[in-house]
Amino acid sequence: MTYQNYSLDQLRAIDNAHHLHPFTDHKDLRAAGTRVVVSAEGPFVYDTEGNEILDAMAGLWCVNAGYGREELVEAATAQMRELPYYNSFFRCTTPTPTLLSQKLAEISPGNINQVFYGSSGSESNDTALRLVRHYWALEGRPEKNIVISRNWAYHGSTIAGTSLGGMEAMHAQLYGAVPNIRHVMCPYAYENAEPGESDHDFGLRAAKAVEDAILEAGAENVAAFIGEPIQGAGGVKIPPASYWPEIQRICEKYDVLLMLDEVITGYGRTGEWFAAQSMNIKPDTITTAKGLTSGYQPLSALLVGDRIANTLVEKGGEFYHGYTYSGHPVACAVALKNIEIIEREGLIDRVREDTGPYLGDALKAGLGDHPLVGEIRTCGLLAAVEIVRDKSTRERFQPAGSAPVVIRDHAIASGIMMRAVMDTMIMSPPLIWTRETVDMAVERIGKALDLAQADLATT
Ligand SMILES: *Cc1c(COP(=O)(O)O)cnc(C)c1O
Repeated sequence: MTYQNYSLDQLRAIDNAHHLHPFTDHKDLRAAGTRVVVSAEGPFVYDTEGNEILDAMAGLWCVNAGYGREELVEAATAQMRELPYYNSFFRCTTPTPTLLSQKLAEISPGNINQVFYGSSGSESNDTALRLVRHYWALEGRPEKNIVISRNWAYHGSTIAGTSLGGMEAMHAQLYGAVPNIRHVMCPYAYENAEPGESDHDFGLRAAKAVEDAILEAGAENVAAFIGEPIQGAGGVKIPPASYWPEIQRICEKYDVLLMLDEVITGYGRTGEWFAAQSMNIKPDTITTAKGLTSGYQPLSALLVGDRIANTLVEKGGEFYHGYTYSGHPVACAVALKNIEIIEREGLIDRVREDTGPYLGDALKAGLGDHPLVGEIRTCGLLAAVEIVRDKSTRERFQPAGSAPVVIRDHAIASGIMMRAVMDTMIMSPPLIWTRETVDMAVERIGKALDLAQADLATT
């Protein structure tokens, strides 16, 4: 590419003139201008001004194996030379999605042995929604089609993804949601637990909200419950340990399918291949994307449990659904190589045994006493820092979400890329982080918090 022929100002001007960005206030962006990221290596990204920024978000929760992986480039190049594209419609297949499916069946929970591909998490959630409803129709129970989800859920940005999700601002722009999707409270103890309520009890109460919704709809009308094991974009909301086993029990009791959205938690982030394994639950579907290719190619995989897959096979009849790029050979070649790297380098064991616990300890030791910090919670390499005006009362800065944006800007200027979600700062670093990288991150976040505190004190 020859972007080097353009100055930074030229690139920004062209971007402003022609590029509509995702999740953006376009008026605001035109005034502020964009940061142009041009290269990356290991845990760092570099912008046109030569700033080296530690990427604590792994891109958008996806670059699990880190940047600059020559092997992934080679896997893609070799596959493009041999067969850049062929589809898996019309009784055809190609080798890489075939072998990737076998690998995914091997590393996923025991009841999961089939895979349906897309190019994004949103697409695979659309597939999942259609599939669970189709399953009940094939079983002769088409009226069993309500799906229960949760507030603050993020399941993507297509119409189905937005409808499944629980983001109010996104729903307000749906202008007609997919029908028969209902939302209940999410297991967010820091804001929703009653004073004196234990984590354990709160987890059971949050699960009870799902049971209540099933009973209200009538179990005979409920197809499935969908949830992210840890709500990511909603603010890294980590449920109490009591929550997921209770959800599993409720789903079994009412014969409601369990759909997990592991687009963030999949491929090692929680210290197992999937959070379903960390939390010891057996879902009927698992939506995955992001870390599947470490973001080097767009690819998603809906992992489909035996119960649903067997019905598709036994009952027959075409399932009228699929994408031009379902099982794209190049994307699947990259995914296979990416999984090989994660295995060979023991990245998942490292997260579980070493860097995951170390991240939690280091954040708490380094930042826990900071006056702006209300709570720190982590699971594997996912972390959230609650930002408060008053630690003891948990009072927030006003307006909601304003303080974390100040912190985020200082964080980036201090050399660490983090995200602000409402009143929470979040992190989802590449799995290649070492203890040294964690220490570097804690130091930079501490600096950003101090600088932000000076700003916020004057407001
Ligand atoms: C990112 C994300 C999605 C959507 O994936 P896209 O590839 O952006 O469509 C869905 N679910 C979760 C949990 C996500 O984090």
